[in-house]
Amino acid sequence: MWKDVTAEQWNSWKWQLANRISSLEQLRQVIDLESEEAKEIAACLEKYPMAITPYYATLMDEANRSCPIRMQVIPSVRELQNTEVDQADPLHETIDSPVPGLIHRYPDRVAFLVSGNCAVYCRFCTRKSSTYGRDRICQGADLDKAITYLKNNRHIRDVLLTGGDPLCLSDHTLGSLLEMLRAIESVEIIRVGSRVPVTMPQRITPELCAVLKKYHPIWLNTHFNHPREITAEAQRACEMLANAGIPLGNQSVLLQGINDSPAIMQQLVHGLLRIRVRPYYLYQCDLTEGIGHFRTPVTTGIDIIRKLQGHTSGLAVPTYVIDAPGGGGKIPVNKNYIVSHSAQEIVLQNYEGEVCKYPEISEE
Ligand code: SF4
Repeated sequence: MWKDVTAEQWNSWKWQLANRISSLEQLRQVIDLESEEAKEIAACLEKYPMAITPYYATLMDEANRSCPIRMQVIPSVRELQNTEVDQADPLHETIDSPVPGLIHRYPDRVAFLVSGNCAVYCRFCTRKSSTYGRDRICQGADLDKAITYLKNNRHIRDVLLTGGDPLCLSDHTLGSLLEMLRAIESVEIIRVGSRVPVTMPQRITPELCAVLKKYHPIWLNTHFNHPREITAEAQRACEMLANAGIPLGNQSVLLQGINDSPAIMQQLVHGLLRIRVRPYYLYQCDLTEGIGHFRTPVTTGIDIIRKLQGHTSGLAVPTYVIDAPGGGGKIPVNKNYIVSHSAQEIVLQNYEGEVCKYPEISEE
C-alpha cells in the first residue's frame, strides 16, 4: 500500500496523520481479513471509528488475529456488547469538570483536555466515546475559561495536558498553550500525556523538542503496552525527549490477551528502561462501555506486580492502580506484604515469601 511513499513522506508526522487507515477498504490492503471479521469490523465502525497510522500498521502481524498490536487498534464486534458494569463515564469526568476541557478531581492538579484527536484510536480507550473522531481543540471561549479558572485557583500547581493527544496539536498551538500556562505563577509543573512516541514517533522532531524545552519543568508520560511497540523509531523519539531534559514515564493498561502475563510485562518494563522511560503506572482497565472484553481479573495485575517486585530493579516496577469508579481517583492495588503490625514490631514478608521483622519505633 505504501510502496511509492518516499522516506521524506514516511518520516513526516503530518503525512502519517493524513494517511491513517480509517476504512475497511484501506485495512484490507494491509492485513488478511476473513469475510466474517470484515463484517464485524464494518458493524463496529458504525459506532466507533478507526484510525491507525501507517507506521503503527506496519507493526501488526498481517495474518494473526491475536497479534497484540492488531488487537489494540482493529475494531471488534465485542465493542458493541456492553456488560452490566459498563458505564458511559465511569470516572465521572463530566461531573468533575468545572469549565469545559478541565477535570479538577485532586486539590492541587487538573487534567486539561486540549486536543480531541489522537494518532491512533485505541480500542480500549477510556474516553472512546468522547475522543474518537473528534478534532476538537480547546480554543476560543473555552480556552479563556480554562485559563481564567487556573489563574483563580492558585492551589493548582500541576497541569496535565491530555485529550486526545496533546502532541497531535501543531508546534505553534502547543507553544502558545504552554506559554499561557507558564505565565500563571502558581502552575509549577506541566505534564504531557501522549501516546505518539508509540504510535507516531515521527512527531518527535527537533522543533517540537525545542518548543517543549522552553517551558520546563515539563514531564511526559507515554503509553507503551507491549514490548513489540519498542522499535528503533520509538527509541529514537524517547531519546530525543529525554535529551531535551524531559523525564519520561510510562502508563500501561492491563489488557486481556495483549499484556496480561508476567513474562510479557517483564520484557516491556526492561525494554522501557533501556529507552530511558520509567514504568510508572499499570492501570486496571476502566469500566467504560465497549471495552469490557479487554478487562482482566484484578488478581492478574496483582500477580504480575508480585512477580516483578524484588525480582527486578525497583525502577522497573510500575504501581498497579484502579482508577476508582465514581471519580474516586487512582488507588494502588498490591499484594499485602505486612503480616502483622503492633506497637512493638512490624512483621513483613519479602518477595521470596521469607518472613522478616522490623522493630517499631516509639513515637515519644
Ligand atoms: S492515544 Fe490515549 S486518548 Fe488516544 S485513543 Fe489511545 S488511549 Fe485514548
